[in-house]
Amino acid sequence: MARPSILVSNDDGIHAEGLHALEAALREFADVVTVAPESEQSAASHALSLARPLRLRRAGENRWAVDGTPADCVYVALHHPTLLPRKPDLVVSGINHGPNLGSDVFYSGTVAAAREGTLRGVDALAVSLAQGGKRDEAAALAVRVAQQILKTGKTPRPRQLFSLNIPAGTVRGLRATSLGVRLYEDLVDLRTDPRGRQYLWIGGPVVSHTAVEGTDTAAQESGYASLTPLSIDLYAPNGSPLATAIARTARRGPTRTRRIAR
Ligand code: MN
Repeated sequence: MARPSILVSNDDGIHAEGLHALEAALREFADVVTVAPESEQSAASHALSLARPLRLRRAGENRWAVDGTPADCVYVALHHPTLLPRKPDLVVSGINHGPNLGSDVFYSGTVAAAREGTLRGVDALAVSLAQGGKRDEAAALAVRVAQQILKTGKTPRPRQLFSLNIPAGTVRGLRATSLGVRLYEDLVDLRTDPRGRQYLWIGGPVVSHTAVEGTDTAAQESGYASLTPLSIDLYAPNGSPLATAIARTARRGPTRTRRIAR
C-alpha cells in the first residue's frame, strides 16, 4: 500500500523543536512535506498576506519556509504547482509550544494552519503541547491519532478539523472533548518609553478554566490529552430568530422612519 502523503506546518516557525519532533515521527510511516513560517507566528490566527509578496526558501529535503503566516504556508503548499507530489491525505500542524484550549482556537496560528487544510478539502489535525510537556510522547500520540484519521478518511465522509492537546506530566489517556472556556486575566499594560511616549502590551499571563465535564480544559487539568473536533461553519442557528428580528427593524433605516409622518 502506498504511504500516505502528509503536509506539515506550524506557527512557531521552521526552526521550532516541536515541528522537528512532529516531522520525524510522521516520516516513520508517511511521505512528509513541511511548509512552515520563516519566523514565529503564534496568535497570527488565520491571516493571509495579500498585500505583499511572499518568499519561499528551501530549508532542507522536503522542507520549505515561507516568510508569511501559518495559513499562507498551507495555502502556498496546496496551490503551488510543484511543492507537493499530490494532494495530501492529511495536514498536521504543530507541535505547538503551549496549549490551544477553548477560545484559544480563534487566535491560534497552529489551529489556523490546520483549518486552512480543511477549508481546502483535506482532513487536518492541530497538535499542541502544554509548556513543560514531553515532546516525543506528544509526537507519538499525534502519530496514532493521525493514523486513525487517515484510516477513517478512506471511506467517504465530510473532511474534519481536529485539535489535539497534550498536557504536561504523565498523560493518563486520550479523550474526545468539546471546547472549554478559557478565562484570561485580560489586560492592557500601559508603559512609558525612555522618550516619554506611551506604549502598551496586551494579553495577561494568568489563565483559569471553568470546570465543565467533557471539555478540553477539564481533560487537560486532570492529566488527559484531548481530541476536539472543530467546525468550519461558524453559523449559529440559535441566533437566527434574533438576527431575523434585528434585520426586520434595521432594514427600514433610522433616517427614513423619522421622516415618515405617522
Ligand atoms: Mn505557537
